[in-house]
Amino acid sequence: MLKNMAVHFGYRSAINLQELKLTTSKKSCQLYEMKRLIPFLAILMLLCGCQGKNLKLSNSEKLTTEQITAAWTSGKTIRVDNFKEKLSTRPLFAEQPVVADKGYNVLIDMAHECSFVTLWDLPERLNKSGYRAIGSHATVNTVLDSKGFSRVRVLYDTVNKIYPFAWWPNAKYDVIITEQSTPKAQDYTDAEIAAMVQFVRKGGGLIIQGYAIRRAGPAGPPDNGEWSLNKLAAVFGGKFTDQDTTISGIRWAKMKLSEEWSSVYPGTSVKPENTSPNPLIARATESTSPNPLLRKEGARELPRNVLAIRKFGRGRVVMCGNLSAIRRSGKDSEERKALADSLLSKMMTVLTEFQKPVGGTLHLPQTMEGGGAIYPELEDNFSNIVFYYAANQKPELLKTVKDDVPKAQAFIQQRLPSTPTAEPMYLILCAGGGGGWAVNIYKPKENGIISLDGHGILSIFGHELAHTMFGPANDEGKIAGIAPIPDRGEAHAGWFQGKVNALFKPDLLDKANRECNSMFAYDPKGNAMDLATCYENEAMNQKWGYGKDWIKTWYIWQKIDDRYGPSWYPKWKWVQHTRWKDDPEHHLTWDEMVEDMSIAVGEDLFPFFIKVGTTLNKKRLEQIEFQGNKITLRVAPIDVTPAGAVRMEEVVLR
Ligand SMILES: [Zn+2]
Repeated sequence: MLKNMAVHFGYRSAINLQELKLTTSKKSCQLYEMKRLIPFLAILMLLCGCQGKNLKLSNSEKLTTEQITAAWTSGKTIRVDNFKEKLSTRPLFAEQPVVADKGYNVLIDMAHECSFVTLWDLPERLNKSGYRAIGSHATVNTVLDSKGFSRVRVLYDTVNKIYPFAWWPNAKYDVIITEQSTPKAQDYTDAEIAAMVQFVRKGGGLIIQGYAIRRAGPAGPPDNGEWSLNKLAAVFGGKFTDQDTTISGIRWAKMKLSEEWSSVYPGTSVKPENTSPNPLIARATESTSPNPLLRKEGARELPRNVLAIRKFGRGRVVMCGNLSAIRRSGKDSEERKALADSLLSKMMTVLTEFQKPVGGTLHLPQTMEGGGAIYPELEDNFSNIVFYYAANQKPELLKTVKDDVPKAQAFIQQRLPSTPTAEPMYLILCAGGGGGWAVNIYKPKENGIISLDGHGILSIFGHELAHTMFGPANDEGKIAGIAPIPDRGEAHAGWFQGKVNALFKPDLLDKANRECNSMFAYDPKGNAMDLATCYENEAMNQKWGYGKDWIKTWYIWQKIDDRYGPSWYPKWKWVQHTRWKDDPEHHLTWDEMVEDMSIAVGEDLFPFFIKVGTTLNKKRLEQIEFQGNKITLRVAPIDVTPAGAVRMEEVVLR
């Protein structure tokens, strides 16, 4: 089977997509197929600009299926009129799986930092705790605007899995969770801060989470006082300082707070003036803590200088000195997980107990293993790319996208000619750093980039673009055959990503692609790892370590590049699509794949593959028939020696 979807993410790591994990789309498949909805023609209104604010639409304006198709295949975000009425009958969103729904809508703001946790994990945990959760990459003021619209994806055609982008009338929210771990991330704009202040004044709950950031020398991040997150906190009389304290195994930023703030755990708080970091004091008061649950879960004391709450207008604000405090991962101890759950639950309780829940439908936007639920509000359209970004996005990153992404796109398209997709590429630039995702399981496809660095953006873009490209089709315009090194898979994406890296970083030009000679560090003779048995499987991960199979693949490809130049790769894919065109679902054996590659290069690659340790049934491919011709192949004279420099030249087919 072809992989329908790749989701990968490297949370706050350097841009190294080898590290990115590959997961399948179990969740979305189950969720949405169970709730398979009758396809229908909603009253869909096409919005030909960006924001829906200025459009006044009437119910009689209906779009046909053709018009809707025309919209998403040309990069338009659709506006759904009469949204609420439609929601009550034929929902455009699956129901959020909220356990014992309390009726409170929680907005998870990702416009100032997007992470694996806020994108996928936190919404799920909130749902399990009885809250509805909507993640958002759009600037907060646009999402809170009572007359505004949010860009979401709607379940338009669940049979063919067509979920176009649509403008959806903004929801009402009870609580906003916002956070930032680094001053380098995207700023809180004045408009956003004003909107959040208004939101709390009118009776909403707000969680602001930060860290203790130390200035790393003169070139380091700005002092915490200049930190945009602190600009938001300052409005409420708070500040995340650069000092920290460890309580319950968590390194909390010590917060400087005005006197309106108190502990979230009344009765356990240390007095405002007493911000002693002395652990003896915390331990001394522990025994008198009136909250046995907290003590049991290891929270001990959480003084108000690490976790605090205040009233503000008719609402409340919580400040939390560590944004990981409420996070939990599979590796955590049971005690740590219980603490994370208890903290999240406590914060949610204190911010909702005084509020009347928004209530209403549970058919709300949600992430479908990709981005969203709410996508950035601004857009640009160039080189068949639809680019979504938020108003607080960094100008230098926008410049990279607009100037250099088209160059990277043209570069890959030349080196891997493929049938163009009918639709443009939807590219979503998110806040923060560390990875990306690609959605191929439903249409239109989307590509998310999370990077604070221009080179990182180009690198992830190259990777995600290659994931969408099969290489040259056969003479019927089709692709065929399923290779054991997955077509459009991780090695493939990483290979072209490496060439894009070299395009923008000249110091990589004299190095092998993806510095694949690093294979010799773990396979010194280059013949110990057998890719035919050890490829993207658990045995491989256990024996060699995650991603090492890709490095060896790149080494092999670089050796072939060395001898034949880079045209062999698209030729190989063309041979595959041509040779298997009568049996397009055929799963090739390793022998069959090496045959395809040998035809493409015009020499017998079997001896080389055997030299690098691959188990093959044939030792030699002296002759093979292709397109009715018998081809005689000499042994490719390739030895297992260090590979040469990345090959960047244009490819020539035929
Ligand atoms: Zn990938």
